[in-house]
Amino acid sequence: MSLNKIELLNVRKSFALGKGVVRDVVGDVSFRAAPGEFVSVIGPSGCGKSTVFNIMAGLEPPSSGHVIVDGRDRTGDCTPFAYMPQKDLLFPWRSILDNTALGLELAGMKRKDAREKARELFAAFGLAGFEDNLPFELSGGMRQRAAFLRTVVLGREILLLDEPFGALDSLTRIEMQNWLQGVWAEHAWTAVMITHDIHEAIFLSDRVVVLGARPTRVRLDLKVDLPRPRTLAMTASKEFALLEEQLLEALHDESRKALTANALSAA
Ligand code: ADP
Ligand code: MG
Repeated sequence: MSLNKIELLNVRKSFALGKGVVRDVVGDVSFRAAPGEFVSVIGPSGCGKSTVFNIMAGLEPPSSGHVIVDGRDRTGDCTPFAYMPQKDLLFPWRSILDNTALGLELAGMKRKDAREKARELFAAFGLAGFEDNLPFELSGGMRQRAAFLRTVVLGREILLLDEPFGALDSLTRIEMQNWLQGVWAEHAWTAVMITHDIHEAIFLSDRVVVLGARPTRVRLDLKVDLPRPRTLAMTASKEFALLEEQLLEALHDESRKALTANALSAA
């Protein structure tokens, strides 16, 4: 048995833009998550975070490198992953139940069975009673939980979340972070989450990986040694502030580089 549930090994990605022009996006990225670990990935905007996730989820082949799950090379294989993309939209004409059962149906499950399986999770996701509503009738937080439900109901081993709370107001965001911490602890998921919010990354994670400017590399892999469950009071502690400072520093260095690089390439 490998100690790592998921490991990225020297993943690189360049996109061919035509006429022999190549854009190097992922320079060399390696990181890992142990079984049941929650790892956050932060980095400047446009550095290649979503590209790294697309590679993990098997949607995009890496130019080189490997995606290892339980010690086996699973590069290009989507089956171990439940992936919630950055813009995970619900179909506006489908009821919440039909939206959340969609992934299972697409995976070949009978409609009735898929709906039953999704329905069982509605209470835990704070959606009980909204099965037959349409997405526009729900709050932003509820819609996000529905998108979440649609992802986790697939019962995959590793959860990939790309900026899951990016579109929410700050109060809803804090509520959702608390809620996620609860369901994550209950289900013992291995989770990797992209966020641009340092506070959120520390609050939820066992480790935070800071990616650098494009072509991106790992700049810092920081252990978050705070007891669980995390509380709001903990976020005011000296330990929390120290972690925040280290991450801010690493991130600011990289953002400055990204700005300079963009300015140069525009010139
Ligand atoms: P992030 O999620 O960190 O904001 P992305 O991974 O979405 O960044 O994108 C990183 C860079 O890769 C961007 O400059 C983007 O233009 C480029 N990129 C992403 N996908 C493609 C593609 N299919 N072809 C060319 N360039 C791409
Ligand atoms: Mg992105």
